[in-house]
Amino acid sequence: MAHIVILGGGIGGVSAAYEIKAELRKGDTLTLISANPYFQFTPSNPWVGVGWRSKADITLDLESLMKKRKINFIPQAALKVHPDHNIVELMNGEQVQYDILVVATGPELAFDEIPGLGPIEGGFTHSVCTVDHATTAYEAWEEFCKNPGPIIVGAAQGASCYGPAYEHAMIMDTDLRRRKIRDKVPITFVTAEPYIGHLGLGGVGDTKGLLESKMRHRNIKWITNAKIDQVTQDMMHVTEVGFDGNPYRQHEVPFKYSMILPAFRGVAAVRDIEGVSNPRGFTIVDAKQKNTKYPNIYAVGVCIAIAPLEATPVATGVPKTGFMIESMVTAVAHNIGNVLRGKEPVEEGTWNAVCLADLGDEGVVFVARPQNPPRNVNWAADGKWVHYAKIAFEKYFLRKMKKGTTEPFYEKAIMNMIKVRKLKDKINNPLG
Ligand code: FAD
Repeated sequence: MAHIVILGGGIGGVSAAYEIKAELRKGDTLTLISANPYFQFTPSNPWVGVGWRSKADITLDLESLMKKRKINFIPQAALKVHPDHNIVELMNGEQVQYDILVVATGPELAFDEIPGLGPIEGGFTHSVCTVDHATTAYEAWEEFCKNPGPIIVGAAQGASCYGPAYEHAMIMDTDLRRRKIRDKVPITFVTAEPYIGHLGLGGVGDTKGLLESKMRHRNIKWITNAKIDQVTQDMMHVTEVGFDGNPYRQHEVPFKYSMILPAFRGVAAVRDIEGVSNPRGFTIVDAKQKNTKYPNIYAVGVCIAIAPLEATPVATGVPKTGFMIESMVTAVAHNIGNVLRGKEPVEEGTWNAVCLADLGDEGVVFVARPQNPPRNVNWAADGKWVHYAKIAFEKYFLRKMKKGTTEPFYEKAIMNMIKVRKLKDKINNPLG
């Protein structure tokens, strides 16, 4: 009988726990190890940043969720994975033996790569990457609104997650208009992307035109190809890089409030392991989500290694979005089910992306099938309905996590209708 261990209780890890549970044979055991005792619905964090949601609204207690599904839960951070011995060493010194390991540890936030960046010691910018960061950002937001001034919002060099920076910029804009103080707040969007709407994906549909237009309508200025050199108490020092990769212009942008998404890297527990992690600490997997050196290690979510889509003047990474992560999870669950039954792990996730970006009082939706170009479907649209769809999706996803289901039949039916699937259909349509 096998012991399957999942490391990380985020969107990837919890979905994996539910889907793998359904694949177990009688007698197999499943354990979820997570640094946090709660699951957080990360996409709602920009709303937490302005007080439209609280931590309690978007988190679920993992202990009780796992207990209901008869999945062991260890609320501990892993110190190190030892793949030669099939052991996860925990921070408290305990060791957990596994037969199969699923790494779902998300990102480590690399604030330390830029002096003055982040809500860390010596840092002057906020973050909405975690619910705790977003809660701190909200406390500062209330103070800022009493005595407003310029805002800088965006994503640093090497970042791979851009959507939430656009969301937070326009959610803050909406909140400031509601508070009737928008006229006191110049907003500058600073991003490593070569153009607005690139998103680390070379754009999807006309996200370039759509998001530029939104920024213009909302009086948000931008600096693209931006490399943040340093942040001080009230000033951001930015080098704008030309398309030849050389410095083109220096900017010193004053701010009173700032939220910058950092670059990501793999977490220390799975970093610097020969054959497991790449130089940034991301877990190396093949198309089956399986590590090649250690075939009993799988990985899903933000922690996996994906090469940048294209060379950009300032480094940009590829985002790993929610539906794409769910497709990795479904492939891993099926593959583990196969392996447990003596079959080959043949399933591949489609990595299709369906994203709802909330802009406070409207939104932008895009479908990229597959996520990386060239694509079979490359579509983006906007409207007020997207804002309401994102709220509905938040409630729906949290409900799914509470109930322990990842894809009810009606969700599958709807996604099938728009031909967005999780597993590659190897016979009829290799792109899913
Ligand atoms: P995470 O959700 O980060 O989960 C990682 C888990 O691993 C955490 O529970 C963490 O505590 C745990 N962990 C870390 N280290 C250890 C350790 N050493 N030992 C044990 N446990 C550990 N995508 C979309 O498609 N749509 C969106 O609207 C969207 N919005 C986003 C908004 C924000 C602010 C961010 C940052 C990302 C957003 N994404 C969105 C991208 C993506 O869906 C999320 O980042 C998602 O949370 C990634 O899931 P994950 O499971 O890979 O990582």
